[in-house]
Amino acid sequence: MAETKVQQRSQRRFKSDHKMRTEARTLLKDTKPKGRRKRLYSWEEIPEWQRDNEHILHGYVLETKSVSECLKSLLYLHNESVNIYTHLIPGICFLLVALFDKFAIKKFPSTGLIDYLMIDFFFLGGFTCLIMSSTFHCFKCHSLEIATLGNKLDYLGIVALIVSSMISILYYGFSDNNAFFYGFSGLTLAFGIACSVVSLKERFRSREWRAYRALLFVAFGLSAVLPVIAGIIFYGVRETWSRIQLKWVLLEGVLYILGALLYGIRFPERLAPGYFDIWGHSHQLFHVLVVIAALCHLTALLGSYERFHKALGTF
Ligand SMILES: [Zn+2]
Repeated sequence: MAETKVQQRSQRRFKSDHKMRTEARTLLKDTKPKGRRKRLYSWEEIPEWQRDNEHILHGYVLETKSVSECLKSLLYLHNESVNIYTHLIPGICFLLVALFDKFAIKKFPSTGLIDYLMIDFFFLGGFTCLIMSSTFHCFKCHSLEIATLGNKLDYLGIVALIVSSMISILYYGFSDNNAFFYGFSGLTLAFGIACSVVSLKERFRSREWRAYRALLFVAFGLSAVLPVIAGIIFYGVRETWSRIQLKWVLLEGVLYILGALLYGIRFPERLAPGYFDIWGHSHQLFHVLVVIAALCHLTALLGSYERFHKALGTF
């Protein structure tokens, strides 16, 4: 009997010691990363699914499987940091301008609700694109499933930007021609749907299709040439130049194409792998060019809007 009691006591002590050791281990595990510089990983160390650009050799955040770890990655520098912030900051600015449009957009006596709707449509399209993109770059280290979903939403964001850019300026370019406005807006929507399908369908999402997918998006952008040609035939070069502020639209097109080209050929990191891991690789240049191109479009859109209302004021 006494022996059994001793055994029970010793078992209880063992259990209590075991519990304490487990708690101590958990505590140690929880506090370990704190106060330490976050470790980044190399191309060889990351899992296959995280590998996309073989010219970027270091600076990877290893698969986190944790939303909070992904959010914490906003606080230290890694090879997605520039991609995140180049779209997060302008994205928030776009949203703020849309929310405070009454203060941000110059007002004319003829300015009405439709003007705010059209200009805000562009701002919200831009916001969607930039936020989808920064969210994707922040959470792509979570897991393959989240990275795949984020990448699809990233492409949908680009579609939203192109559709909203085109329709908003078509409204002012063809303010007196409903057939052209609705016709080209319909074409833009059709292209937008096609690009969305290509972005969402698994078959077109493989690395081999990367360049072709980029090309389809360029074609979507280039479809903007069609209303310009129609405008030149219908109104003449000078009138079209002024109606849609063509010089800004042309500059916008050049910047988008340049961005897609650098992204497609992975310049400059392909020339010196490892040198552009954190700063200056093709995806970052692409992001910056997208933002500058969107600002060119904004300049064209506001110029077009002002021209339209100034012309109304002369009658
Ligand atoms: Zn991106």
